[in-house]
Amino acid sequence: MITNSPEETIAFGIQLGKRLAGNETIALYGELGAGKTTLIKGIVKGFGIEKTAKSPSFVMITEYTANGKVIYHIDLYRIRNIDEAENIGLLDYLTFPGVKVIEWAERIEELLPKETLRITLKIISDKTREINIEE
Ligand code: ADP
Ligand code: MG
Repeated sequence: MITNSPEETIAFGIQLGKRLAGNETIALYGELGAGKTTLIKGIVKGFGIEKTAKSPSFVMITEYTANGKVIYHIDLYRIRNIDEAENIGLLDYLTFPGVKVIEWAERIEELLPKETLRITLKIISDKTREINIEE
């Protein structure tokens, strides 16, 4: 999948978000600026969370809720390893009901559930991104 603007990446995220049942774990890979956060915007919207009560549970986790639905946006940018993740209670979130979308998921790779949906974003040029979904 190729997108040529942030809007196209959001549109792709919306399509993905629409197909979520509500308990998925989605792992996002890709360098800084690849579009992970942009994609999440679309996923949240497509999942049906339009007006959000956006409450950061703590610095690295943002919780989006509406109509009994929940998405946890977990950003592990500042986490270096699993020990650090465990120490701040991050791993508990993996067991919570709800959609979990994880940026920098490689940092807790071995803890990801078996059925995790893995998505890699790659910068091709200024406005172009390649998005690959692996199962
Ligand atoms: P990440 O979370 O992976 O660090 P962000 O989503 O925060 O990335 O930032 C992506 C940046 O790239 C934004 O500034 C966005 O405007 C820009 N951009 C340019 N083209 C695209 C595209 N096709 N898809 C997503 N973002 C794009
Ligand atoms: Mg980001």
